[in-house]
Amino acid sequence: MEAYAEHHTGKMNYCFFCENISYKKVPGKEVGNKWICINCLHQLKEIFEGLERWEEEMAMGSKMQDQIDENLGI
Ligand SMILES: [Zn+2]
Repeated sequence: MEAYAEHHTGKMNYCFFCENISYKKVPGKEVGNKWICINCLHQLKEIFEGLERWEEEMAMGSKMQDQIDENLGI
């Protein structure tokens, strides 16, 4: 399996996420030992941007919960 992958490195890339095989002209990025195509990178970017907002909301939510607990004297 390793030899198979090595044999094809440089010619084509196999996207870890969408499982499409892309030739070198398709942009992508190697993340660890996985290659991810530009389409999936765009999707990941959106997910991570959403994740940051979500984490902020979670942080704010837990602060509010702390405040509520304080007000209730817990
Ligand atoms: Zn992909």
